[in-house]
Amino acid sequence: MALQLKPGGEIDAYCTSCRTDKVHRIIALVGNTPKKVECLSCKGHHLYRATQAQKDAAAAHKRASKGDTSPAKPTARATRAGALIRAKAEDLAVTWEKAITGKPFEQFKPYRLDRTFSKGELLRHAKFGEGVVTTILDAHKCEVLFKEGMKTLAQALQLTS
Ligand SMILES: [Zn+2]
Repeated sequence: MALQLKPGGEIDAYCTSCRTDKVHRIIALVGNTPKKVECLSCKGHHLYRATQAQKDAAAAHKRASKGDTSPAKPTARATRAGALIRAKAEDLAVTWEKAITGKPFEQFKPYRLDRTFSKGELLRHAKFGEGVVTTILDAHKCEVLFKEGMKTLAQALQLTS
């Protein structure tokens, strides 16, 4: 049951003169809400204001009811970078899939160090599996896209065995 307030009664309120919470005497009420109060410390008359403690409690309640527990969010920059890396990896997977899908077994040249590859050529690597040559870096190096990602492989090496 709510406390019934009445003029002349005492109430805790924020005093605008003392700038702190003080006991006040109620001068005027509207319904059960104090409108005008007299500070028992400074004898000043002013409009009723909730105590700082009440305001803090109300603010805390507002935060809690919004469910805002302020979790640590990654910065926008980190999120964008992560998305870019993910997008790039997905692009590569799609590119690999397109290059490999439906190609007959015999189109994949078994990879060997002493072989020379050209851009767009399909190869089969003992460890990485099927791949497609995407870039010829130089006479002895090429970049090959495998299912697990881009690899730099040696090519056209003179084997002495
Ligand atoms: Zn006061």
